[in-house]
Amino acid sequence: MKVTKPERKIETGVFDRHTLLVISKFLKKRVIESLDYPISTGKEADVFHATTLDGRNLAVKIFRIETSTFRAMEDYLVSDPRFKGISDNKFDIINAWTRKEFKNLQIMEEAGVHSPHPLICHANVLIMEFLGVGGMAYSTLFQAGSLAPESDARSILDDIARMYRAGLVHADISEYNIMMTDKGPYIIDAGQGVLIKHPKAHEFLRRDIDNIVRYFRKYSLGLDTETEYQKIISEEIEHGKLRRRKKKFQREPETPAGDGTGGGADDEEGEGDIVGAGEIEGADAGAGRDDAPENVDGE
Ligand code: ATP
Ligand code: MN
Repeated sequence: MKVTKPERKIETGVFDRHTLLVISKFLKKRVIESLDYPISTGKEADVFHATTLDGRNLAVKIFRIETSTFRAMEDYLVSDPRFKGISDNKFDIINAWTRKEFKNLQIMEEAGVHSPHPLICHANVLIMEFLGVGGMAYSTLFQAGSLAPESDARSILDDIARMYRAGLVHADISEYNIMMTDKGPYIIDAGQGVLIKHPKAHEFLRRDIDNIVRYFRKYSLGLDTETEYQKIISEEIEHGKLRRRKKKFQREPETPAGDGTGGGADDEEGEGDIVGAGEIEGADAGAGRDDAPENVDGE
């Protein structure tokens, strides 16, 4: 199959069959015109650069089916009303995880958090705004450090507060999951994010804050985890938004605009739908689990 333009070909051998089917579907639907090169390869996911027909850059995050830590993922999926009743089949978990990151990115965007715009997701593949210049991804905070520590730290802590106000705790904030863009720090990698009703949400919130406070310690900003934590949770209580938000997310968790098919809380166990873009139809075409798992499992 043709995965990319010949001059920038990615070896098809790097993808399992299940993933290849999903990518070919995105190519066929013209969501992307080519899948170009890896930006990052990790334990849980690989991120690729892709190009649209009109030459725009996109980031394609592909969750690994073979090496992901399913047990760890399950811990972050429990108590999330958006993912009620998903089985412990590894495809279901990965697909729910992908959708979870997608929905968390939607919540973040709506809350005004600096984060990549999520375009669409299907099965274990999530397509989002590319953060970079030309085809070059911006550096992470870990790689680049901070040139304006005071405002960078404040921006990140404000974003954590915005997420909390919107009912979300990122739960994996660190210098590795922040990209230093020309518009300041952007928060990525939202798959672990939990709703504030998750039993460990506040523990995760404190840890997120602490990671930032600890990272910026070398810049001597005098930040204190407990102070920042109290500020964030008391702001929330003062504004009385907590309850309203919780209700909202339990009632209608982020149905993607224009997509009449997926996205509701009750169909999370299904992964047949491409979520996120109204113009993609044929969502139940065969790129999903139906014929793939058996083939992939044994490999
Ligand atoms: P793993 O844990 O397996 O390493 P991950 O789950 O941490 O993967 P991310 O943190 O989301 O995956 O992304 C990994 C890297 O890919 C980032 O550090 C960044 O360099 C790049 N990246 C992620 N999202 C984007 C994006 N939207 N635009 C450009 N680059 C991105
Ligand atoms: Mn990461």
